[in-house]
Amino acid sequence: MVSYKELGLVNTREMFAKAIKGGYAIPAFNFNNMEQLQAIIKASAETKSPVILQVSKGARNYANQTLLRYMAQGAVEYAKELGWEKPQIVLHLDHGDSFELCKSCVDFGFSSVMIDASHLPYEENIALTKKVVDYAHQYDVTVEAELGVLAGVEDEVSSAVSHYTKPEEVVDFATRTGCDSLAISIGTSHGAYKFTPEQCTRDPKTGKLVPPPLAFDVLDAIMEKLPGFPIVLHGSSSVPQEYVDMINQYGGKLPDAVGIPEEQLRKASESAVCKINIDSDSRLAFTAAVRKVFAEKPGEFDPRKYCGPARDLMEELYKHKIINVLGSNGKA
Ligand SMILES: [Zn+2]
Repeated sequence: MVSYKELGLVNTREMFAKAIKGGYAIPAFNFNNMEQLQAIIKASAETKSPVILQVSKGARNYANQTLLRYMAQGAVEYAKELGWEKPQIVLHLDHGDSFELCKSCVDFGFSSVMIDASHLPYEENIALTKKVVDYAHQYDVTVEAELGVLAGVEDEVSSAVSHYTKPEEVVDFATRTGCDSLAISIGTSHGAYKFTPEQCTRDPKTGKLVPPPLAFDVLDAIMEKLPGFPIVLHGSSSVPQEYVDMINQYGGKLPDAVGIPEEQLRKASESAVCKINIDSDSRLAFTAAVRKVFAEKPGEFDPRKYCGPARDLMEELYKHKIINVLGSNGKA
């Protein structure tokens, strides 16, 4: 048993309470490799933003759970080296799908876990979530749960259609499970293809897809039922068109990739939404930078020469999100 506290990590409790009061949101960035982690920590340290490092099922399969945990531990020390005296870093399990997995993360030094039982019938979701909460809270590890279903594909979590969270269920769910935060479905979606062209309109000038707006009425109804309760948005990449264009310009093929407009995430950040998950955008930045190097310097074969620029572009993206979208700069 390793406590996250010994590793210098923090849970989300105080962080979320401050974020709701202050009208901003904490970035939750997924990481799978060293360059991504370096970029996240540099951006967070330089902007003094609290940050949630997320480990998904795909990341565990790709990079190994043990290695990722030690990388997060190293990230705390790296942040201090960068001059961030008291780093506010959470190590979070993204989309935990069983009690055993959540328990193993709690036992291994994670400071926060998500149990995603949203695909199960309501009562089963409550029972499994409560089991995880009862275990995690013994060690002061915070638990995110989910109600409602998001469309899209995120690593191994996928659903063809979304079902908005039902506001009439949230009080019962939060009370009976004791969860610390709640991921809801209001129209965000996993992946770089969040909406089909049929769901969107097309900007006549640019020919780009314009996605349907988030269901702020559902969010408002949830906040009215659960005042001051931390709300989480998954699938909140914006799929910046500059990266999509760069990828396509340098030989890629991402037609009609579309995400959640940043103005809508900004608006959500000012409400009880206090954690916003962003993964696809950094994948796009990484890919765009690598493609550019390959196209411009076909003789390049030193991975540092293309992973380096990818890291720089991701860092720029993370800073932009922190400062211009979530407003979490200067809060840690
Ligand atoms: Zn998710």
